Amino acid sequence: MPIAGKRTEASKSKRLSTPYDYAIIGGGIVGLATAYQLGQTYPKARLLLIEKESDWAAHQTGHNSGVIHSGIYYKPGSAKTRMAVAGARSMVAFCEAHGVTHELCGKVIVAAHPDELPRLEALEQRAAANGILARRLTPKQLQEHEPHVRGVAALHVPSTGIIDYKQVAQTLARLGTEQGAELRLQTKLLGIVKKGDSVTLQTTQGDFPARFLINCGGLYSDRIAALGGVSPRAKIIPFRGEYYELIPERRSLVRGLIYPVPNPSFPFLGRGYAAETGFQMEPRTKPAQKSISYALVKLSKLLLSPPLTIFKSIRYTRFVEGNCVLTDHKTQKV
Ligand SMILES: Cc1cc2nc3c(=O)[nH]c(=O)nc-3n(C[C@H](O)[C@H](O)[C@H](O)COP(=O)(O)OP(=O)(O)OC[C@H]3O[C@@H](n4cnc5c(N)ncnc54)[C@H](O)[C@@H]3O)c2cc1C
Repeated sequence: MPIAGKRTEASKSKRLSTPYDYAIIGGGIVGLATAYQLGQTYPKARLLLIEKESDWAAHQTGHNSGVIHSGIYYKPGSAKTRMAVAGARSMVAFCEAHGVTHELCGKVIVAAHPDELPRLEALEQRAAANGILARRLTPKQLQEHEPHVRGVAALHVPSTGIIDYKQVAQTLARLGTEQGAELRLQTKLLGIVKKGDSVTLQTTQGDFPARFLINCGGLYSDRIAALGGVSPRAKIIPFRGEYYELIPERRSLVRGLIYPVPNPSFPFLGRGYAAETGFQMEPRTKPAQKSISYALVKLSKLLLSPPLTIFKSIRYTRFVEGNCVLTDHKTQKV
């Protein structure tokens, strides 16, 4: 046993002094997908991924709205559109190949007032330009899709879906490890030392040399860049999503995803709320004061935002914000 122990120490020290080909910071979906794809493309490369938390997808990836976005909102021909459209397809293919929970439930974008019709029409044209199937619905057809929603017109986008991104991340971590990558939890990057052609990652679990470092630190990626002596022009502005869940006996109020027509005055907040089949969430986004905060905001603060419809059927007096109102005789206006 002592010899085996010595051998282990020796091989460990050799392993740590030989640079990894790629070191990835961050075990969210971007870092894990990067590790997986690098392993597919360069099967012989030595890969390291470090994550400071004790589980994968502990931040944005595991707390987001869980939507597979179609790419309908983005400018035709832009890189964002190309990646969103291709990404939605490849995400569905990945889920089918690896048994990840998802559902292409589709979504409706609802014009609640006639003055929203030009923006709905522009979205319809954008969908066509982006190669995304979107069908115009009359008020009657909208009601057939979503019996508790009223609007003057709507667009139905069947390729939008819901997904468990935490499960996607865990699957990517398993596949990455099976491909031979070294994935380490509870390993926080503290510093980056550059020497010649390589860098050394100083972490809470020791030092790791690497030829290439890939920063996938999410909301911390600007700080990680700064550790490496880089000052990016882009600045991270954190946004916070707030979610409210329908009680199980009222989930039949909503069949799929429901969105208002985006408001051009608030480009970041274009999706005021959505309801998800099965989970029935009602998110809204607003600027956050800290990078990471999962604390609940007091309802009294929320009530200051106009106009609200409070559902008696929502647990813990949860609410829906926006001008496309879910109609139900049990709703109560404030
Ligand atoms: C409110 C909201 C809702 C959203 N809804 C959707 C949606 O429905 N669909 C969709 O496709 N996208 C959605 N997004 C966007 C999506 O969630 C993010 O684009 C995606 O999760 C980003 O993944 P990431 O890996 O870059 O970041 P993260 O998931 O935040 O991962 C970064 C990781 O880096 C780790 N890290 C940071 N610093 C260090 C360090 N020093 N050492 C080691 N590890 C470190 C963190 O612990 C973290 O786990 C939403 C975003 C928000 C804010």
